[in-house]
Amino acid sequence: MSERRIPVIEIFGPTVQGEGRVIGRKTMFVRTSGCDYRCAWCDSAFTWDGTGKDDIRLLTAGEVIGELTEKGGEFAHVTLSGGNPALLPQLGELIDRLHAQGAEVALETQGSKWQEWFRSVDELTLSPKPPSSGMETDWAALDGIVGKLENAGRSFSLKVVVFDEADLDYAAAVHARYASAPFYLQAGNGRLGETEPARLLPYLLERYEWLIGTVMADARFRKVHVLPQLHTWVWGNKKGV
Ligand code: SF4
Repeated sequence: MSERRIPVIEIFGPTVQGEGRVIGRKTMFVRTSGCDYRCAWCDSAFTWDGTGKDDIRLLTAGEVIGELTEKGGEFAHVTLSGGNPALLPQLGELIDRLHAQGAEVALETQGSKWQEWFRSVDELTLSPKPPSSGMETDWAALDGIVGKLENAGRSFSLKVVVFDEADLDYAAAVHARYASAPFYLQAGNGRLGETEPARLLPYLLERYEWLIGTVMADARFRKVHVLPQLHTWVWGNKKGV
């Protein structure tokens, strides 16, 4: 059995999942460090920009599960997040061990890299990044991932964060390209520096209202879900919640 360690920057929970298909679900979080992207509005830049380097620990799958149990007791659901957890082939062992003890696993990645263990993830979200991120989508890589998941009969969802009209056009293109996958639009948070939740909320509500109104009026979006980032409504930009 491989003992390759996992670079973990945060383990926390139980808390509610704030985004996408599993929004509202009681879950434990494991956040890995490292990302191959540098999104302009990344809300977890500490995983890759050096500011969180003192928090990175190299843990075995068993150590991660031990800490999850310590914090979450008999947990039933774990979210693997990053950074980009898809950079880590060794996560397969963790996922298998979580399944063996009856926990379900959700994972989000931008869809730039494939890992064989994608086929084992119960709730996989592919979240390609729109123009406002400053990143370029590798469509061949994303097509390849979607194709492999479809061939394996695995369900997955797509999620695009939207800040402006250009992002909306990008989201429409993603939705059209992978028309049969559940599709989620999420209002972007452009105020990552705001530390007071009460001051952040009116802005987030305004952005969510804008996104709802725009998507409802846009015939390109027929079979979609429009969501806020729920945890920011409750805790603002706080880490570890
Ligand atoms: S892909 Fe995600 S973690 Fe990586 S830079 Fe972009 S928003 Fe941040």
